Amino acid sequence: MIDLKGKVAVVFGLANKRSIAYSVAQKLAEAGATLVLSYQLERLKGEAEELLQELGQTGTGRAFQCDVSRDNEIDALFTQLAAEFPKIDILIHSVAFAPADAIKNDFLLTTRDDFRVAHDVSVYSMIALARGAAPLMTEGGAMLTLTYYGAEKVFPNYNVMGVAKAALEATVRYLAASLGSKNIRVNAISAGPIKTLAARGIGDFNQILNAVTLRAPLHRNVEQVEVGNTALFLCSPLASGITG
Ligand code: NAD
Repeated sequence: MIDLKGKVAVVFGLANKRSIAYSVAQKLAEAGATLVLSYQLERLKGEAEELLQELGQTGTGRAFQCDVSRDNEIDALFTQLAAEFPKIDILIHSVAFAPADAIKNDFLLTTRDDFRVAHDVSVYSMIALARGAAPLMTEGGAMLTLTYYGAEKVFPNYNVMGVAKAALEATVRYLAASLGSKNIRVNAISAGPIKTLAARGIGDFNQILNAVTLRAPLHRNVEQVEVGNTALFLCSPLASGITG
């Protein structure tokens, strides 16, 4: 049994109950962690507060708005966190975005600006959040992000997001090297395809799900809760020797 009582987990990327971040937050809360949920936009505030309530964290957990493409919002969030929590232990980065055209169009047509936005939101944000969180991880910690197979192989309709995920995976290794001496571990889960808001932007997603059913060793798709369980393990003392 994993016990995270007394630990504080900061979770970015919660849009709704289908979000991978929701399952991760749920598993961390069940193990006893106090949750800080971060949502991108004002209109997601109610959703985040409702989720805190559902996860039994009203009064203990907190929800903060933060657009990870804005340094001032990241700075404000970590200043507030430092004031409210003596230390944090876990950082979940479950955030990605690429403009629709950059995913829909032939890869050759990727524009400079779409490339920049995809990498800024989906990759650089991991570095910025790690830099904000590290000084608050005074007793060591675990950082985790979400990647996809399209980083390793050309994957239909993944396009610039595949390039961004490759950069994200390299970022995880460099961050692990940078933070290892502080006993902060940095890892990524390469999740199978799951129908979420972000996945809606990927063309032929149902075909992708069907292909997994045909070809994957278990002949089925992965569920959010299974990603949540893997995240719980990676953020727990059971994974104390795993980083990068
Ligand atoms: P989701 O849409 O529920 O989550 C994506 C989150 O990113 C949303 O909460 C959105 O608000 C947030 N976000 C986007 N731009 C942001 C910004 N500027 N500032 C702050 N937050 C921002 O979808 P999801 O599938 O749960 O995605 C979570 C992560 O999992 C992503 O990194 C995604 O690439 C990855 N992933 C998803 C799948 C899948 O098939 N769904 C598979 C592997 C990896």
